[in-house]
Amino acid sequence: MVLGAVLARGRAMCRHNGLLILSVLSVIVGCLLGFILRTRRLSPQVSASGCVCNVIPPLTLGVGDASLMSGLASLDAKTSSRLGILTVAYYLWTTFLAVVVGIIMVSIIHPGGAAQKETTEQSGKPVMSSADALLDLPMWPVYPIASHWLPLCPKPSRLFPESHAPCLPRYFPFGIVFLIAGKILEMDDPKAVGKKLGFYAVTVVGGLVVHGLLMLPLLYFLITKKNPIVFIRGVLQALLIALATSSSSATLPITFKCLLENNHIDRRIARFVLPVGATINMDGTALYEAVAAIFIAQVNNYELDFGQIITISITATAASIGAAGIPQAGLVTMVIVLTSVGLPTDDINLIIAVDWALDRFRTMINVLGDALAAGIMAHICRKDFARDVGTEKLSPCET
Ligand code: ASP
Repeated sequence: MVLGAVLARGRAMCRHNGLLILSVLSVIVGCLLGFILRTRRLSPQVSASGCVCNVIPPLTLGVGDASLMSGLASLDAKTSSRLGILTVAYYLWTTFLAVVVGIIMVSIIHPGGAAQKETTEQSGKPVMSSADALLDLPMWPVYPIASHWLPLCPKPSRLFPESHAPCLPRYFPFGIVFLIAGKILEMDDPKAVGKKLGFYAVTVVGGLVVHGLLMLPLLYFLITKKNPIVFIRGVLQALLIALATSSSSATLPITFKCLLENNHIDRRIARFVLPVGATINMDGTALYEAVAAIFIAQVNNYELDFGQIITISITATAASIGAAGIPQAGLVTMVIVLTSVGLPTDDINLIIAVDWALDRFRTMINVLGDALAAGIMAHICRKDFARDVGTEKLSPCET
């Protein structure tokens, strides 16, 4: 009976986390395959090209667009203009701050190893243009909606019961196996690369901690003069959901509920600030993109000059704005950052192995950033909204 219950629980877990479990398994299988093939003494040509299949996880876009529209529509023009300008300015500022934190962390820790003063041109690897990068992505953006029309999509199964589940993510784990095996084959010293990856993960998590638990709460305290710990405690449930789902869009309803019920934020402010934040404000993603790009430069012994660091900070900010609030969207928009300074987009394969875990932490910071922004906006605009009490429009589902 106990065994039956355990099996039932295991089946339920697989049903809900099918893709995640497959992704983790594919990382393990990819590593094993890579190490086994290394012992086979393959010819250099096979090692260099045999296993590398250029699969990039499909990008799913447009998730936040509808929520952004509903956020904008929920306020009347007069009241919304001040809130709108302040919110967008605050989001841009904190995203840029996150990028700066990431750049400082990765420059101090230097997870990619010692630099050997080589520029992107001197390194011998081709410097890619944006057009090259686009052509290099055979599975470039695929909307989940497209799966409705693709006859190749398998029917809903027990592992993926949703009929609307994107078809390409089903094959994504197979891609991961070959990406990782190929990368391990290419590496001169996989153990050293593993160590670098460990330091890279520590750098990203360290940066997220500094930004999420130091910079943002400090900003909240300086502006509102209220205790940020009490505020963060109020949205703890949303942070845990973000950790579990790796999706700030999926967490949105819980963040909204936490802000209203625990932190007593004005519903109209939450309805505007949160959807806009879920669409354009991703501090965690921006920080991660900057760290990952500089890490890839370090691994390849590229020394980035000041101009390139500025380019990375601008494109990381832009790429995070463009990323959807779904699992591993930031990994895809990384291409923008890498191509902007001529770094090899192939090396995204290198960081895939740890991305499923880092994604959870950066999503938490993305959600925390939106929640704290709502708290700050509620404080700044409290007089405007006190004046408007009673004039608020409720959406049909709230009446
Ligand atoms: N998973 C993140 C989010 O939903 C986006 C990313 O960085 O991949 O906020």
